[in-house]
Amino acid sequence: MQIKCSHCNKMFAENRDAALAGMFAIHNDGQNHYDATCLHCQRAVRVSDERMNETYPNWEAEYEEMMKRAAEFEKNQAKLEKEMAERKVKPKKEKKKRKRNR
Ligand SMILES: [Zn+2]
Repeated sequence: MQIKCSHCNKMFAENRDAALAGMFAIHNDGQNHYDATCLHCQRAVRVSDERMNETYPNWEAEYEEMMKRAAEFEKNQAKLEKEMAERKVKPKKEKKKRKRNR
């Protein structure tokens, strides 16, 4: 979504996933706005929940979709890493053997 910064008056695009997570926070923590971070001046820009609702009317479904995608991605990532690990026949060199004294 496009947001106009209230501090430096520049436009910037807010990441959709971050905005959806923000919507989730709004609904769960009873907040009435979302704080976007301006790309130009790095300051927090308030976006009202009305504006958020208008931009993401189906945010709940989209949020669920996003979480599913994230879970799927992690699953694939874990699978890939396992495959990579199994493919590697090289013996592991253990360089990091440092004993910690407490
Ligand atoms: Zn700004």
